Amino acid sequence: MGKALIIGAGGVSNVVVHKCCQHPEVFEEICLASRTVEKCDAIKNKLAGSKTKIHTARVNADDSNQVIDLIRSFNPDIVINVALPYQDLAIMDACLATGVHYLDTANYEPPDTPKFEYKWQWAYREKFKEAGLMALLGSGFDPGVTGVFCAYAQKHYFDQIDYIDIVDANAGDHGYPFATNFNPEINIREITAKGRFYENGEWKETEPLEYKHVYDLPEIGPKNIYLLYHEELESLAVNIKGVKRIRFWMTFSDNYINHLTVLQNVGMTSIEPINYEGKEIIPLQFLKAVLPDPGSLGPRTKGKTNIGCIIQGTKDGKPRTYYVYNVCDHQECYREVGSQAISYTTGVPAMIGAKLMLQGIWNKPGVFNVEEFDPDPFMDELNKCGLPWKEEFSPTLLD
Ligand code: NDP
Repeated sequence: MGKALIIGAGGVSNVVVHKCCQHPEVFEEICLASRTVEKCDAIKNKLAGSKTKIHTARVNADDSNQVIDLIRSFNPDIVINVALPYQDLAIMDACLATGVHYLDTANYEPPDTPKFEYKWQWAYREKFKEAGLMALLGSGFDPGVTGVFCAYAQKHYFDQIDYIDIVDANAGDHGYPFATNFNPEINIREITAKGRFYENGEWKETEPLEYKHVYDLPEIGPKNIYLLYHEELESLAVNIKGVKRIRFWMTFSDNYINHLTVLQNVGMTSIEPINYEGKEIIPLQFLKAVLPDPGSLGPRTKGKTNIGCIIQGTKDGKPRTYYVYNVCDHQECYREVGSQAISYTTGVPAMIGAKLMLQGIWNKPGVFNVEEFDPDPFMDELNKCGLPWKEEFSPTLLD
């Protein structure tokens, strides 16, 4: 049916490629391209014998022209961007120049400013629309499935959604004193930033990790959860009409917070360049280089993740509460695709988004977030493709 160019060859990409190869009727041919082509070859080698034909290529996706040349030589129907958020705009430009659909899992962030916002990518709406092309933003888990969960709740259970609490819990243990489960630079920048949530039409700011609760999560048990800002809050505040409050919570162990506090106190999480023995280095990037590679955590990580949305609102004039979540087991993911659950829960929805686009099921010219489409086909695919979800109708609420 189609050809996909997949950019980036990290933990998430490994899952996307494995999952695309499980659907060779949709993904007939893949070109896997990244800055380090050896990483692409390593993923390709794991999938020797797959029905999907896999090519590899070297590309620096900071340079639109390199992506344009690659698109022209491979001629894909869609570009799946699972490189880093810094490359989003250059890849979107290349898609526009060559007439190809686009999908990513994280919104654009300028390399020199720790600030992610949809404004840069939403500014491409008219250009994509006029070109008859579709860009699907944030088709990972959060953002991604969390938006689909909200759209599903809105479609099937609520006339009016008032409150949304997104809870992202990772009870995995990799056995290291400190490591991050995905790109450390992105992860640390996310946690050390101020918290923010949406309430009554306004954005309210908190100090980093200022708000904490203990929440008893199904299949995981009680965990410390902290209020963070997360990118799907921005699009859900616009797309879930009339919502009064949206918050995002993530689990961190005391051990994780202690390590992070020390690293921050000594300046290791800074993105300001410093001069070290005549060479300019960015402390956070240096830290990334000394921490365990997230890709190496897979075989060591035991335990489960639980990510879901606790929703309150009304149906037929009566109050209603609803909790929809997915539980994912790190070891099961590793056995299936050779990656832990953090990469798995991101890579599967990226493949599903691309599959629905190639099949023409989600197909509209313009730039969209996932909650703007009919959630039902996506929810069906989650059940079929390794991320089954569960519902509760009287969950414990967070207040
Ligand atoms: P990794 O750091 O493991 O992999 C990133 C890959 O992108 C690497 O192969 C890297 O190449 C490549 N890359 C970086 N810069 C360039 C460039 N200029 N040109 C071409 N390739 C480049 O990250 P993950 O796999 O963990 O994450 C991938 C994406 O998924 C990120 O954007 C992340 O924010 C997002 N994400 C989204 C989540 C969600 O739920 N929505 C959750 C987790 C992640 P090299 O090896 O040479 O450095």
